[in-house]
Amino acid sequence: MTLTRHFAYWPKGVPTSITVPKTTLYDNLLVSARRYPDKTAIYYYGTAVTYDRLLAEAKALAGYLQHELGVKRGDRVLLYMQNAPQFFVSFFGILAAGAVVVPMNPMNMTEELRFYIEDGGIETALVGQELLPRITPLQKETTLQHIVAAAYSDYIEGTPKYALPDVVTAPRQTDVGDDVVLWADALNRGLQPVDVGTTCDDLAVLPYTSGTTGRPKGCMHTHRTVQANVAGGANARMTTPESVTLTVLPLFHVTGLVHCMNVPVYLGATSVLMTRWDRETAAQLIEDQRVTSWTNISTMMIDFLANPNLSKYDLSSLASIGGGGATLPAAVGERLKQLFGLNYTEGYGLSETIAQVTFNPPDRPKLQCMGMPCPDVDARVVNPQTLEELGPNEEGELIVNGPQVFLGYWNRPEENAKAFVELDGKRFFRTGDLVRYDEEGYLFMVDRLKRMINASGFKVWPAEVESLLYQHEAVQMACVIGAPDEHRGETVKAYIVLKADYQGRVRPEDIIEWTKDKIAAYKRPRLVEFVDALPMSGTGKVMWRTLQEKEWAQVKA
Ligand code: AMP
Repeated sequence: MTLTRHFAYWPKGVPTSITVPKTTLYDNLLVSARRYPDKTAIYYYGTAVTYDRLLAEAKALAGYLQHELGVKRGDRVLLYMQNAPQFFVSFFGILAAGAVVVPMNPMNMTEELRFYIEDGGIETALVGQELLPRITPLQKETTLQHIVAAAYSDYIEGTPKYALPDVVTAPRQTDVGDDVVLWADALNRGLQPVDVGTTCDDLAVLPYTSGTTGRPKGCMHTHRTVQANVAGGANARMTTPESVTLTVLPLFHVTGLVHCMNVPVYLGATSVLMTRWDRETAAQLIEDQRVTSWTNISTMMIDFLANPNLSKYDLSSLASIGGGGATLPAAVGERLKQLFGLNYTEGYGLSETIAQVTFNPPDRPKLQCMGMPCPDVDARVVNPQTLEELGPNEEGELIVNGPQVFLGYWNRPEENAKAFVELDGKRFFRTGDLVRYDEEGYLFMVDRLKRMINASGFKVWPAEVESLLYQHEAVQMACVIGAPDEHRGETVKAYIVLKADYQGRVRPEDIIEWTKDKIAAYKRPRLVEFVDALPMSGTGKVMWRTLQEKEWAQVKA
């Protein structure tokens, strides 16, 4: 018995196959703006942005990109900002210009950005104004030529009804220098884009991930691979044209990008947008805007349910809650059910699959579970060495074939050769995740074959953190692992062997402090332990797994 045969368990009402629209993601906005011109596409802390306005601004930005900045079909454009209306406008504007969106975590620092910009050959960046100090040093020094800076406060009309984060209230900066264009100036030009003939097979999004190994790599997604999961999200019926979704997952990450932005726009639904997570504001917005659906991540869910004021709010409009990117502890799912009578519908996916490849059928979810393969996905659990297919309750690597699987990594032929395997004439992507499935075909995460830390959905690649630590003058050797963390699931821990002449002269907190501003906050070690030596294999490799297992064994004990 193999997993593929378990499609028979797929519940009634949700088709097991979807016709992926042969249109572009920008077409989704065109259609919704035609159908629902006056409907609110984005509700931003009291300001309603209609579909008509969203489309007009996306067009004006596209026109500016093409005519003033010379952006051409297939060019990669960096999208480096927080969740804000400008993120939506930028996303669809870049696509309307025929270019490719490179979504970037706003926590990235200058040296991290340098890598992405050079790797992607990026010439144009759309940036939140608060992030300018990190990116302007790279202008002209790298391939980067043009920067357009956005002030989120441009979208706050009247007196705000909610407690807003500083980045949202900060007034528009005007002293940005001659080389930076202000968002408002770019849009006010009202330039109209030229149709460059983008098809569903053009690249649309290039999200970066480290995959199973090494340095970050861009995942090549076409309009068609993204549409597969957008249409798939709509097919699951958790979001409908009438839905009001709470959009607080980061939009640069694939789950937020697909489920909190593209699915609502495809359906003509309303996104209630938050720039930062805040449990009180989230509850207020759910009550005020009668939010119906919410895609989130376990840490948000845990924090939300822990709010002592929760019973003050009328949250009865909520009809579906789900998420992915990390496992939601079963106890949290049970509490959600108890308080709201709602099932938490978990999904599983990767940047390489632009969000879900498996998800829980909404009417038959299991807790702490990845769910079942999505429609049209051939998912198999195999022995990672022999690729022999495994049966129920046997642990093996998950490999997937489906319409949402990316084309490959940008400019990485060697990595691509390792990332895929051919079986039965189909190309399967190797996820690097160790899973098992039960007798009903539900998949469960067991462990990771790849070296990755999942800190509440933010992925950290130890090698990247280690290479930074090796730049510290006192560090002789470093090994970074994922340590258990009550709130984030896992956290970054560094084991360090100090050079002899630094022993007793450096403290763990000095190392932690030193990493500040050099690397995104979520990648910084929260824990540092000095040791005399690291466990080494016979071939001279640091045995990181031994250290990691020791760490987790202490919790279980
Ligand atoms: P990313 O490319 O950042 O989306 O990270 C993908 C990785 O997140 C996967 O390879 C998994 O290790 C992890 N992941 C995604 N969804 C889940 C889930 N529902 N449960 C546990 N881990 C998950």
